[in-house]
Amino acid sequence: MNGFSRVTLQALLENANIGVVIHAWDTSIVYANPTALKLLRLSHEQIIGKKSMDPQWRFIDEGNHPLPHEKFPVSLVKRFRAPLTNEVLGLIDSQQLKPTWFMVNAYLETAQHIGDSFIVVTFNDISDQKHLFSFSEIVDNAQDVIIVTEADNLERPLGPRIVYVNKAFEQLTGYSKDEVIGETPRILQGKDTDIKELSRVSQALKNQQPISSTILNYSKTGHPYWLSMNIFPLTNKYGEVTHFAALERDVTGDKYYAEQLESRNKSLKEIKENLEHIITEKTQALHDANKQLYQHAYYDALTSIPNRRSFYEQAKQQFSRAKRDKKLLLTSILDLDYFKNVNDTHGHDTGDRMLIEVANTLSTFFRQEDVYGRYGGEEFIFCILLNEEKQAIEICERLREKIASLSITLDDNTSLNITVSIGVSITLVTEESLFEEEIKKADKALYNAKSKGRNCVDITFSS
Ligand code: GH3
Ligand code: MG
Ligand code: MG
Repeated sequence: MNGFSRVTLQALLENANIGVVIHAWDTSIVYANPTALKLLRLSHEQIIGKKSMDPQWRFIDEGNHPLPHEKFPVSLVKRFRAPLTNEVLGLIDSQQLKPTWFMVNAYLETAQHIGDSFIVVTFNDISDQKHLFSFSEIVDNAQDVIIVTEADNLERPLGPRIVYVNKAFEQLTGYSKDEVIGETPRILQGKDTDIKELSRVSQALKNQQPISSTILNYSKTGHPYWLSMNIFPLTNKYGEVTHFAALERDVTGDKYYAEQLESRNKSLKEIKENLEHIITEKTQALHDANKQLYQHAYYDALTSIPNRRSFYEQAKQQFSRAKRDKKLLLTSILDLDYFKNVNDTHGHDTGDRMLIEVANTLSTFFRQEDVYGRYGGEEFIFCILLNEEKQAIEICERLREKIASLSITLDDNTSLNITVSIGVSITLVTEESLFEEEIKKADKALYNAKSKGRNCVDITFSS
Protein backbone atom coordinates (compact mmCIF):
# COMPACT_ATOMS: atom_id res chain seq x y z
CA MET A 1 0.00 0.00 0.00
CA ASN A 2 1.46 3.37 -0.95
CA GLY A 3 1.02 6.47 1.18
CA PHE A 4 -1.28 8.10 -1.33
CA SER A 5 -4.28 5.97 -0.33
CA ARG A 6 -4.21 7.57 3.08
CA VAL A 7 -5.39 10.86 1.55
CA THR A 8 -9.09 10.89 2.34
CA LEU A 9 -11.57 12.06 -0.20
CA GLN A 10 -13.36 14.14 2.38
CA ALA A 11 -10.19 16.04 3.39
CA LEU A 12 -9.31 16.53 -0.27
CA LEU A 13 -12.69 18.10 -1.01
CA GLU A 14 -12.64 20.24 2.12
CA ASN A 15 -9.25 21.71 1.17
CA ALA A 16 -9.55 21.91 -2.60
CA ASN A 17 -9.49 25.42 -4.02
CA ILE A 18 -12.22 24.55 -6.47
CA GLY A 19 -15.95 24.47 -5.79
CA VAL A 20 -17.38 20.96 -5.69
CA VAL A 21 -21.11 20.28 -5.48
CA ILE A 22 -22.52 16.76 -5.52
CA HIS A 23 -26.10 16.24 -6.62
CA ALA A 24 -28.24 13.19 -6.07
CA TRP A 25 -30.05 11.80 -9.11
CA ASP A 26 -33.09 13.98 -8.34
CA THR A 27 -30.66 16.98 -8.57
CA SER A 28 -30.94 17.80 -4.86
CA ILE A 29 -27.59 18.81 -3.43
CA VAL A 30 -26.12 16.32 -1.04
CA TYR A 31 -22.72 17.86 -0.61
CA ALA A 32 -20.96 21.21 -1.20
CA ASN A 33 -17.37 21.80 -0.17
CA PRO A 34 -16.32 25.05 1.60
CA THR A 35 -15.00 26.60 -1.64
CA ALA A 36 -18.37 25.94 -3.31
CA LEU A 37 -20.20 27.62 -0.39
CA LYS A 38 -17.85 30.58 -0.59
CA LEU A 39 -18.19 30.95 -4.39
CA LEU A 40 -21.98 30.59 -4.34
CA ARG A 41 -22.21 32.78 -1.21
CA LEU A 42 -24.52 30.29 0.50
CA SER A 43 -24.41 28.59 3.86
CA HIS A 44 -24.36 24.83 4.27
CA GLU A 45 -28.01 24.95 5.42
CA GLN A 46 -29.04 27.08 2.45
CA ILE A 47 -27.61 24.66 -0.08
CA ILE A 48 -28.15 21.13 1.15
CA GLY A 49 -31.29 19.62 -0.33
CA LYS A 50 -31.73 22.37 -2.90
CA LYS A 51 -32.70 21.13 -6.35
CA SER A 52 -31.80 22.52 -9.75
CA MET A 53 -35.34 23.75 -10.33
CA ASP A 54 -35.24 25.83 -7.19
CA PRO A 55 -36.32 29.30 -8.34
CA GLN A 56 -33.60 30.88 -6.24
CA TRP A 57 -30.91 29.82 -8.72
CA ARG A 58 -30.28 32.55 -11.25
CA PHE A 59 -27.68 31.62 -13.82
CA ILE A 60 -26.94 33.32 -17.16
CA ASP A 61 -25.10 32.15 -20.24
CA GLU A 62 -22.18 34.01 -21.87
CA GLY A 63 -24.65 36.05 -23.87
CA ASN A 64 -26.18 37.29 -20.59
CA HIS A 65 -29.41 35.36 -21.25
CA PRO A 66 -31.08 33.72 -18.26
CA LEU A 67 -30.23 30.02 -18.20
CA PRO A 68 -33.34 27.77 -17.90
CA HIS A 69 -32.91 25.05 -15.32
CA GLU A 70 -32.89 22.31 -17.95
CA LYS A 71 -29.67 23.83 -19.30
CA PHE A 72 -27.95 23.85 -15.91
CA PRO A 73 -24.83 21.64 -15.97
CA VAL A 74 -26.45 19.16 -13.61
CA SER A 75 -29.54 18.89 -15.83
CA LEU A 76 -27.44 18.41 -18.99
CA VAL A 77 -25.30 15.69 -17.45
CA LYS A 78 -28.40 13.94 -16.13
CA ARG A 79 -30.19 14.19 -19.47
CA PHE A 80 -27.32 13.21 -21.79
CA ARG A 81 -25.49 11.09 -19.25
CA ALA A 82 -22.27 12.57 -20.53
CA PRO A 83 -19.69 14.82 -18.89
CA LEU A 84 -19.69 18.57 -19.43
CA THR A 85 -16.40 20.35 -19.98
CA ASN A 86 -15.37 23.96 -19.49
CA GLU A 87 -18.83 25.45 -19.66
CA VAL A 88 -18.92 29.14 -18.77
CA LEU A 89 -21.89 30.51 -16.88
CA GLY A 90 -22.62 33.47 -14.66
CA LEU A 91 -24.32 33.60 -11.29
CA ILE A 92 -26.64 36.51 -10.61
CA ASP A 93 -26.69 37.52 -7.00
CA SER A 94 -28.76 40.36 -5.55
CA GLN A 95 -25.75 41.36 -3.42
CA GLN A 96 -23.45 41.79 -6.43
CA LEU A 97 -23.76 44.31 -9.25
CA LYS A 98 -21.96 42.13 -11.75
CA PRO A 99 -22.47 38.41 -12.29
CA THR A 100 -19.85 36.03 -10.94
CA TRP A 101 -18.50 33.95 -13.81
CA PHE A 102 -17.70 30.27 -13.36
CA MET A 103 -15.86 27.76 -15.46
CA VAL A 104 -17.91 24.64 -14.86
CA ASN A 105 -17.15 20.92 -15.34
CA ALA A 106 -19.55 18.13 -14.44
CA TYR A 107 -19.70 14.38 -14.70
CA LEU A 108 -21.86 11.45 -13.77
CA GLU A 109 -20.76 9.14 -11.00
CA THR A 110 -22.80 6.17 -12.12
CA ALA A 111 -24.15 3.58 -9.72
CA GLN A 112 -25.50 0.21 -10.60
CA HIS A 113 -28.96 1.48 -10.15
CA ILE A 114 -29.17 4.80 -12.01
CA GLY A 115 -31.25 6.36 -9.27
CA ASP A 116 -28.32 5.97 -6.94
CA SER A 117 -25.95 7.86 -9.21
CA PHE A 118 -24.43 11.20 -8.33
CA ILE A 119 -23.69 14.18 -10.50
CA VAL A 120 -20.51 15.95 -9.52
CA VAL A 121 -20.14 19.57 -10.51
CA THR A 122 -16.85 21.42 -10.09
CA PHE A 123 -16.34 25.10 -10.77
CA ASN A 124 -14.00 27.97 -10.22
CA ASP A 125 -14.37 31.76 -10.40
CA ILE A 126 -13.10 33.13 -13.71
CA SER A 127 -14.65 36.63 -13.33
CA ASP A 128 -11.17 38.20 -13.40
CA GLN A 129 -10.36 36.58 -16.74
CA LYS A 130 -13.78 37.08 -18.19
CA HIS A 131 -13.93 40.13 -20.41
CA LEU A 132 -16.88 41.74 -22.02
CA PHE A 133 -15.41 40.80 -25.34
CA SER A 134 -12.70 38.57 -26.68
CA PHE A 135 -9.28 40.06 -27.30
CA SER A 136 -8.22 37.11 -29.37
CA GLU A 137 -11.22 37.74 -31.62
CA ILE A 138 -10.03 41.32 -32.14
CA VAL A 139 -6.51 40.22 -32.92
CA ASP A 140 -7.69 37.45 -35.21
CA ASN A 141 -10.00 39.70 -37.20
CA ALA A 142 -7.97 42.90 -37.17
CA GLN A 143 -7.42 44.50 -40.56
CA ASP A 144 -3.75 44.87 -39.73
CA VAL A 145 -1.45 41.92 -39.91
CA ILE A 146 -0.42 40.49 -36.54
CA ILE A 147 2.39 37.98 -36.13
CA VAL A 148 3.83 36.60 -32.92
CA THR A 149 7.21 34.89 -32.91
CA GLU A 150 9.29 33.30 -30.23
CA ALA A 151 11.97 35.51 -28.76
CA ASP A 152 14.73 32.91 -28.63
CA ASN A 153 16.54 31.46 -31.65
CA LEU A 154 16.66 34.76 -33.48
CA GLU A 155 19.51 33.56 -35.64
CA ARG A 156 19.30 32.62 -39.27
CA PRO A 157 18.12 30.62 -41.04
CA LEU A 158 15.36 29.14 -38.91
CA GLY A 159 14.59 31.70 -36.22
CA PRO A 160 12.61 33.42 -34.98
CA ARG A 161 9.79 30.89 -35.18
CA ILE A 162 6.27 32.08 -35.88
CA VAL A 163 3.73 30.94 -33.27
CA TYR A 164 0.74 32.99 -34.32
CA VAL A 165 -0.59 34.85 -37.38
CA ASN A 166 -4.03 36.38 -37.81
CA LYS A 167 -6.40 36.24 -40.78
CA ALA A 168 -5.09 39.50 -42.23
CA PHE A 169 -1.67 37.85 -42.44
CA GLU A 170 -3.12 34.98 -44.45
CA GLN A 171 -4.89 37.38 -46.76
CA LEU A 172 -1.88 39.61 -47.38
CA THR A 173 0.79 36.96 -47.78
CA GLY A 174 -1.21 34.13 -49.31
CA TYR A 175 0.27 31.72 -46.75
CA SER A 176 -2.15 29.81 -44.51
CA LYS A 177 -1.67 29.64 -40.73
CA ASP A 178 -0.62 26.00 -40.98
CA GLU A 179 2.02 26.80 -43.58
CA VAL A 180 3.78 29.46 -41.52
CA ILE A 181 3.48 28.34 -37.91
CA GLY A 182 6.96 27.14 -37.01
CA GLU A 183 8.47 29.00 -39.97
CA THR A 184 10.42 32.25 -39.77
CA PRO A 185 9.23 35.62 -41.10
CA ARG A 186 12.36 35.52 -43.27
CA ILE A 187 10.37 33.49 -45.81
CA LEU A 188 8.58 36.76 -46.63
CA GLN A 189 11.77 38.58 -47.54
CA GLY A 190 13.17 38.67 -51.04
CA LYS A 191 15.75 40.04 -53.43
CA ASP A 192 14.88 43.72 -53.02
CA THR A 193 14.37 43.68 -49.27
CA ASP A 194 16.80 46.18 -47.80
CA ILE A 195 19.53 44.18 -46.02
CA LYS A 196 20.65 47.16 -43.95
CA GLU A 197 17.13 47.76 -42.69
CA LEU A 198 16.78 44.06 -41.83
CA SER A 199 19.95 44.09 -39.78
CA ARG A 200 18.69 47.20 -37.97
CA VAL A 201 15.53 45.23 -37.08
CA SER A 202 17.57 42.15 -36.05
CA GLN A 203 19.75 44.27 -33.81
CA ALA A 204 16.70 45.73 -32.04
CA LEU A 205 15.28 42.23 -31.50
CA LYS A 206 18.59 41.03 -30.10
CA ASN A 207 18.48 43.96 -27.70
CA GLN A 208 14.85 43.08 -26.93
CA GLN A 209 13.85 46.59 -27.96
CA PRO A 210 10.71 47.66 -29.80
CA ILE A 211 11.29 48.79 -33.38
CA SER A 212 9.39 50.33 -36.29
CA SER A 213 10.41 49.77 -39.87
CA THR A 214 9.10 49.79 -43.43
CA ILE A 215 10.47 47.02 -45.61
CA LEU A 216 9.69 45.28 -48.86
CA ASN A 217 8.14 41.82 -48.39
CA TYR A 218 6.95 39.23 -50.86
CA SER A 219 3.72 37.22 -50.92
CA LYS A 220 3.63 33.47 -51.50
CA THR A 221 3.25 34.12 -55.25
CA GLY A 222 6.26 36.47 -55.21
CA HIS A 223 4.28 39.68 -55.38
CA PRO A 224 6.20 42.46 -53.60
CA TYR A 225 4.52 44.88 -51.16
CA TRP A 226 5.69 47.52 -48.73
CA LEU A 227 5.14 46.59 -45.13
CA SER A 228 5.16 49.05 -42.27
CA MET A 229 5.70 47.20 -39.02
CA ASN A 230 5.87 47.88 -35.31
CA ILE A 231 7.54 45.10 -33.39
CA PHE A 232 7.47 44.97 -29.60
CA PRO A 233 8.61 42.40 -27.04
CA LEU A 234 6.13 40.44 -24.92
CA THR A 235 7.19 39.46 -21.41
CA ASN A 236 6.13 36.79 -18.96
CA LYS A 237 5.34 37.50 -15.32
CA TYR A 238 9.06 37.40 -14.48
CA GLY A 239 9.71 40.22 -16.94
CA GLU A 240 11.51 37.91 -19.35
CA VAL A 241 10.97 38.49 -23.05
CA THR A 242 9.35 35.35 -24.41
CA HIS A 243 7.88 36.54 -27.70
CA PHE A 244 7.80 39.37 -30.16
CA ALA A 245 4.54 40.68 -31.53
CA ALA A 246 4.53 42.51 -34.83
CA LEU A 247 1.71 44.79 -35.98
CA GLU A 248 2.04 45.25 -39.71
CA ARG A 249 0.28 47.08 -42.47
CA ASP A 250 0.57 47.01 -46.25
CA VAL A 251 1.57 50.56 -47.16
CA THR A 252 2.27 49.93 -50.84
CA GLY A 253 -0.63 52.24 -51.70
CA ASP A 254 0.59 54.92 -49.30
CA LYS A 255 4.10 54.65 -50.68
CA TYR A 256 2.75 54.85 -54.22
CA TYR A 257 0.67 57.90 -53.33
CA ALA A 258 3.59 59.43 -51.46
CA GLU A 259 5.74 59.01 -54.58
CA GLN A 260 2.94 60.38 -56.76
CA LEU A 261 2.53 63.31 -54.40
CA GLU A 262 6.25 63.96 -54.41
CA SER A 263 6.47 63.98 -58.20
CA ARG A 264 3.33 66.10 -58.37
CA ASN A 265 4.77 68.54 -55.87
CA LYS A 266 7.94 68.61 -57.91
CA SER A 267 6.12 69.47 -61.11
CA LEU A 268 3.97 72.01 -59.25
CA LYS A 269 7.17 73.57 -57.96
CA GLU A 270 8.53 73.68 -61.50
CA ILE A 271 5.30 75.25 -62.76
CA LYS A 272 5.44 77.75 -59.92
CA GLU A 273 9.04 78.63 -60.73
CA ASN A 274 8.17 78.95 -64.42
CA LEU A 275 5.21 81.13 -63.55
CA GLU A 276 7.33 83.27 -61.28
CA HIS A 277 9.84 83.61 -64.09
CA ILE A 278 7.09 84.50 -66.57
CA ILE A 279 5.57 86.97 -64.11
CA THR A 280 8.95 88.61 -63.55
CA GLU A 281 9.49 88.83 -67.29
CA LYS A 282 5.97 90.13 -67.93
CA THR A 283 6.24 92.62 -65.09
CA GLN A 284 9.50 93.86 -66.52
CA ALA A 285 7.96 94.03 -70.00
CA LEU A 286 4.97 95.92 -68.61
CA HIS A 287 7.25 98.24 -66.75
CA ASP A 288 9.26 98.83 -69.94
CA ALA A 289 6.07 99.35 -71.96
CA ASN A 290 4.78 101.83 -69.40
CA LYS A 291 8.08 103.60 -69.43
CA GLN A 292 7.96 103.69 -73.21
CA LEU A 293 4.38 104.94 -73.17
CA TYR A 294 5.37 107.65 -70.74
CA GLN A 295 8.39 108.43 -72.91
CA HIS A 296 6.12 108.67 -75.97
CA ALA A 297 3.59 110.77 -74.17
CA TYR A 298 6.03 113.24 -72.67
CA TYR A 299 9.24 113.10 -74.67
CA ASP A 300 10.02 113.81 -78.26
CA ALA A 301 10.92 110.64 -80.14
CA LEU A 302 13.76 112.15 -82.17
CA THR A 303 15.53 114.35 -79.65
CA SER A 304 14.45 112.76 -76.34
CA ILE A 305 13.78 116.15 -74.78
CA PRO A 306 10.28 117.06 -73.43
CA ASN A 307 7.67 117.34 -76.19
CA ARG A 308 5.16 120.12 -76.70
CA ARG A 309 2.55 118.53 -74.40
CA SER A 310 5.06 117.99 -71.62
CA PHE A 311 6.33 121.52 -72.05
CA TYR A 312 2.80 122.96 -71.69
CA GLU A 313 2.11 121.04 -68.49
CA GLN A 314 5.32 122.21 -66.86
CA ALA A 315 5.12 125.73 -68.25
CA LYS A 316 1.67 126.19 -66.66
CA GLN A 317 3.23 125.44 -63.29
CA GLN A 318 6.10 127.80 -64.08
CA PHE A 319 3.53 130.44 -64.94
CA SER A 320 1.70 129.92 -61.58
CA ARG A 321 5.02 130.05 -59.72
CA ALA A 322 5.89 133.36 -61.42
CA LYS A 323 2.48 134.72 -60.45
CA ARG A 324 2.84 133.59 -56.84
CA ASP A 325 6.47 134.71 -56.41
CA LYS A 326 5.91 137.87 -58.45
CA LYS A 327 8.82 137.03 -60.71
CA LEU A 328 9.55 137.96 -64.27
CA LEU A 329 8.62 135.21 -66.71
CA LEU A 330 10.60 134.73 -69.87
CA THR A 331 8.84 132.81 -72.67
CA SER A 332 10.80 132.16 -75.80
CA ILE A 333 10.56 130.38 -79.15
CA LEU A 334 13.74 129.38 -80.92
CA ASP A 335 13.75 128.53 -84.64
CA LEU A 336 16.57 127.13 -86.73
CA ASP A 337 17.59 129.40 -89.56
CA TYR A 338 17.28 128.20 -93.14
CA PHE A 339 16.83 124.70 -91.91
CA LYS A 340 15.02 123.68 -95.04
CA ASN A 341 18.30 124.26 -96.85
CA VAL A 342 20.10 121.86 -94.52
CA ASN A 343 17.61 119.13 -95.37
CA ASP A 344 17.66 119.93 -99.03
CA THR A 345 21.44 120.10 -99.26
CA HIS A 346 22.62 117.41 -96.83
CA GLY A 347 19.63 115.16 -96.50
CA HIS A 348 16.96 114.64 -93.90
CA ASP A 349 19.20 112.47 -91.69
CA THR A 350 21.73 115.25 -91.36
CA GLY A 351 18.83 117.56 -90.53
CA ASP A 352 17.84 115.12 -87.81
CA ARG A 353 21.36 115.02 -86.41
CA MET A 354 21.34 118.78 -86.33
CA LEU A 355 18.04 118.83 -84.43
CA ILE A 356 19.45 116.31 -81.91
CA GLU A 357 22.59 118.41 -81.41
CA VAL A 358 20.53 121.53 -80.75
CA ALA A 359 18.27 119.60 -78.34
CA ASN A 360 21.31 118.27 -76.44
CA THR A 361 22.65 121.77 -76.17
CA LEU A 362 19.35 122.94 -74.67
CA SER A 363 19.46 120.03 -72.18
CA THR A 364 22.86 121.02 -70.89
CA PHE A 365 22.18 124.73 -71.08
CA PHE A 366 19.07 124.92 -68.92
CA ARG A 367 18.89 124.47 -65.16
CA GLN A 368 16.70 122.04 -63.26
CA GLU A 369 14.01 124.63 -62.62
CA ASP A 370 13.84 125.80 -66.27
CA VAL A 371 11.16 124.44 -68.56
CA TYR A 372 11.90 123.67 -72.21
CA GLY A 373 10.91 121.35 -75.02
CA ARG A 374 10.61 120.73 -78.75
CA TYR A 375 7.75 122.87 -79.92
CA GLY A 376 7.45 121.25 -83.34
CA GLY A 377 9.54 120.83 -86.53
CA GLU A 378 12.72 122.87 -86.09
CA GLU A 379 11.27 125.06 -83.33
CA PHE A 380 12.09 124.83 -79.64
CA ILE A 381 10.49 126.64 -76.74
CA PHE A 382 11.51 127.53 -73.21
CA CYS A 383 10.13 129.26 -70.20
CA ILE A 384 12.29 130.49 -67.30
CA LEU A 385 12.00 132.76 -64.28
CA LEU A 386 14.16 135.86 -64.01
CA ASN A 387 15.12 138.10 -61.14
CA GLU A 388 15.96 141.01 -63.41
CA GLU A 389 15.01 141.96 -66.91
CA LYS A 390 18.60 142.37 -68.06
CA GLN A 391 19.27 138.68 -67.48
CA ALA A 392 17.09 137.94 -70.49
CA ILE A 393 19.37 139.22 -73.23
CA GLU A 394 22.40 137.77 -71.47
CA ILE A 395 20.87 134.25 -71.28
CA CYS A 396 19.41 134.25 -74.80
CA GLU A 397 22.58 135.56 -76.39
CA ARG A 398 24.64 132.96 -74.62
CA LEU A 399 22.29 130.25 -75.90
CA ARG A 400 22.30 131.61 -79.43
CA GLU A 401 26.12 131.69 -79.46
CA LYS A 402 26.37 128.21 -78.03
CA ILE A 403 24.22 126.82 -80.83
CA ALA A 404 26.09 128.86 -83.43
CA SER A 405 29.32 127.30 -82.25
CA LEU A 406 28.00 123.75 -82.80
CA SER A 407 29.63 121.89 -85.58
CA ILE A 408 28.47 118.68 -87.23
CA THR A 409 30.98 116.63 -89.14
CA LEU A 410 29.60 115.33 -92.39
CA ASP A 411 30.53 112.20 -94.29
CA ASP A 412 32.91 114.13 -96.52
CA ASN A 413 34.63 115.41 -93.37
CA THR A 414 33.37 118.92 -93.92
CA SER A 415 31.59 120.45 -90.97
CA LEU A 416 28.26 122.10 -90.78
CA ASN A 417 27.01 124.93 -88.56
CA ILE A 418 23.60 126.26 -87.80
CA THR A 419 22.22 129.47 -86.36
CA VAL A 420 18.99 130.18 -84.57
CA SER A 421 16.63 133.11 -84.24
CA ILE A 422 15.16 133.61 -80.78
CA GLY A 423 11.92 135.45 -80.06
CA VAL A 424 11.45 136.42 -76.43
CA SER A 425 8.60 137.81 -74.36
CA ILE A 426 9.16 138.97 -70.81
CA THR A 427 6.38 139.86 -68.43
CA LEU A 428 5.63 140.32 -64.78
CA VAL A 429 2.83 137.82 -64.35
CA THR A 430 -0.35 139.20 -62.84
CA GLU A 431 -3.83 137.85 -62.18
CA GLU A 432 -4.89 138.96 -65.65
CA SER A 433 -1.93 137.40 -67.48
CA LEU A 434 -2.49 134.47 -69.86
CA PHE A 435 0.27 132.05 -70.79
CA GLU A 436 -1.05 131.70 -74.36
CA GLU A 437 -0.56 135.43 -74.79
CA GLU A 438 3.09 135.07 -73.81
CA ILE A 439 3.58 132.43 -76.48
CA LYS A 440 1.97 134.61 -79.08
CA LYS A 441 4.23 137.52 -78.12
CA ALA A 442 7.32 135.28 -78.24
CA ASP A 443 6.22 134.06 -81.70
CA LYS A 444 5.86 137.62 -82.86
CA ALA A 445 9.33 138.48 -81.52
CA LEU A 446 10.67 135.44 -83.41
CA TYR A 447 9.12 136.80 -86.56
CA ASN A 448 10.92 140.09 -85.84
CA ALA A 449 14.22 138.29 -85.30
CA LYS A 450 13.82 136.51 -88.62
CA SER A 451 13.00 139.81 -90.27
CA LYS A 452 16.07 141.41 -88.76
CA GLY A 453 18.19 138.92 -90.65
CA ARG A 454 18.18 135.83 -88.38
CA ASN A 455 20.85 134.57 -85.94
CA CYS A 456 19.67 137.12 -83.41
CA VAL A 457 17.48 137.62 -80.35
CA ASP A 458 14.38 139.82 -80.30
CA ILE A 459 12.87 140.69 -76.95
CA THR A 460 9.52 142.28 -76.17
CA PHE A 461 8.74 143.37 -72.67
CA SER A 462 5.21 143.83 -71.33
CA SER A 463 4.43 144.89 -67.79
P1 GH3 B 1 13.57 130.07 -91.62
O1 GH3 B 1 14.95 130.56 -91.38
O2 GH3 B 1 12.66 131.06 -92.17
O3 GH3 B 1 13.03 129.38 -90.44
O4 GH3 B 1 13.76 128.99 -92.76
P2 GH3 B 1 13.51 127.48 -92.63
O5 GH3 B 1 13.99 126.81 -93.85
O6 GH3 B 1 14.06 126.98 -91.36
O7 GH3 B 1 11.96 127.47 -92.51
P3 GH3 B 1 10.85 126.50 -93.07
O8 GH3 B 1 9.69 126.63 -92.20
O9 GH3 B 1 10.67 126.84 -94.53
O10 GH3 B 1 11.46 125.11 -93.04
C1 GH3 B 1 11.47 124.33 -91.89
C2 GH3 B 1 11.97 122.97 -92.27
O11 GH3 B 1 12.23 122.16 -91.20
C3 GH3 B 1 10.99 122.26 -93.16
C4 GH3 B 1 11.07 120.82 -92.68
O12 GH3 B 1 11.44 119.95 -93.69
C5 GH3 B 1 12.15 120.83 -91.66
N1 GH3 B 1 11.81 119.95 -90.60
C6 GH3 B 1 10.79 119.99 -89.73
N2 GH3 B 1 10.85 118.97 -88.86
C7 GH3 B 1 11.94 118.22 -89.23
C8 GH3 B 1 12.52 117.02 -88.72
O13 GH3 B 1 12.05 116.40 -87.76
N3 GH3 B 1 13.64 116.55 -89.30
C9 GH3 B 1 14.21 117.19 -90.35
N4 GH3 B 1 15.33 116.68 -90.88
N5 GH3 B 1 13.67 118.29 -90.87
C10 GH3 B 1 12.56 118.84 -90.29
MG1 MG C 1 10.09 127.09 -88.40
MG1 MG D 1 13.37 127.70 -89.45
